[in-house]
Amino acid sequence: MKLTKINRSSSEELALEGADVLGGDYQANLAALYQRFNVKCHCSHEQAVTMHIRKMQSSGLFFLADNPTSPLHHNNCEFYSARKNIELTPGVEQKIRPFELTTQFSDKLVMGGQTRKINSSNKKMHPRNVMSGLEGLFVTLISNAFCDYSFGGFVSIKDVITRIKNNKSNAKIKTGEADLVSNIYFGQKGIDYAKTKVKHACTKPNDTNEQPISLWFGLVTDVGDDYIMFSNKRLSCLGMYQPHKASGPYLAMGTIIKDCKTDFKQILLIPVVSKSIVLPVYSELQREKVLALQKWVYGRNRSGKYRFYIQKPLKPIVDEGKIVLADLLVVSKNKATGDKIVLALAGRNTARISLVYDSETIKLKHVNVEVVSQYFSRLLTEKRKNSALMRE
Ligand SMILES: [Zn+2]
Repeated sequence: MKLTKINRSSSEELALEGADVLGGDYQANLAALYQRFNVKCHCSHEQAVTMHIRKMQSSGLFFLADNPTSPLHHNNCEFYSARKNIELTPGVEQKIRPFELTTQFSDKLVMGGQTRKINSSNKKMHPRNVMSGLEGLFVTLISNAFCDYSFGGFVSIKDVITRIKNNKSNAKIKTGEADLVSNIYFGQKGIDYAKTKVKHACTKPNDTNEQPISLWFGLVTDVGDDYIMFSNKRLSCLGMYQPHKASGPYLAMGTIIKDCKTDFKQILLIPVVSKSIVLPVYSELQREKVLALQKWVYGRNRSGKYRFYIQKPLKPIVDEGKIVLADLLVVSKNKATGDKIVLALAGRNTARISLVYDSETIKLKHVNVEVVSQYFSRLLTEKRKNSALMRE
């Protein structure tokens, strides 16, 4: 078992003997690390597992917890079962089902309201999903294709759809018997293609109930209660879903199924930064801050040994029964070593956000180019000093 400890303020990585954690007085060992260091376990070949020290509110006892975003330990590792044990701690009821990638999408899931319905007698057995089936599919497609990242440049809807359709993980998602990506269309002509596709699908005599759907994407600003305006045409839909408050432009994702009287069965409207920066945002403040930081990110990427980007976290993380989701992440990645420095931006819950994303957190409303730029200059300078010291 190889361990290292990471200084939480300087990101400096130091050696840590296994005995310094597990030997002697375990509580005292953890108390010495608490809030100053994170612990990394290098049991797995691919990526180290970052852990942090938590203090239980009720008993005051310390314990080591895996960061919820880090990979699992190797099954031979002493810490292997740690995450499982914490999830099963009595009193921490699993009321929310963590986000899971969509692998199958059928007409059953787009039928009115079914994605939200929970059988009341089974409530205890089935924790509610963090999001509807429709939004779950959207988040799966976007995050698989890395369309939740901005490197500061322009990204059109065509770029987004091309990336979604060409992604290998997305190619595994099924709708009925078909691959979902071959049923994805966008733009004006896309609607007709999508309708034709479902019309001619599933005409075999041994049809199951799983009818395939087509998905259509478009950028819209003008929306009503049961319609969207697209290229001066009014397109009707049975159900409209707007899970986030920000105004348009929206990236609309509509489902098209066989024998539907409206143009779309359901439409999901996700706000994006702008028509030329198709990156999801969930609030006006997030949009404002991406627009402010995007040029700075672009400038930083024109030279140097670091790659900068803004990430819009889409997958909520369930941590001790609570949903955690940062507003935005600003990340610098060392091109040679792959080392990352993450700055989380969030409106509230900053302490928990810092634990989950293993980063410092700044209040979203206080963010501007100067604050972010200073943060990275300070940490990158410290890292350079540390590595210079290690070479001596
Ligand atoms: Zn491990």
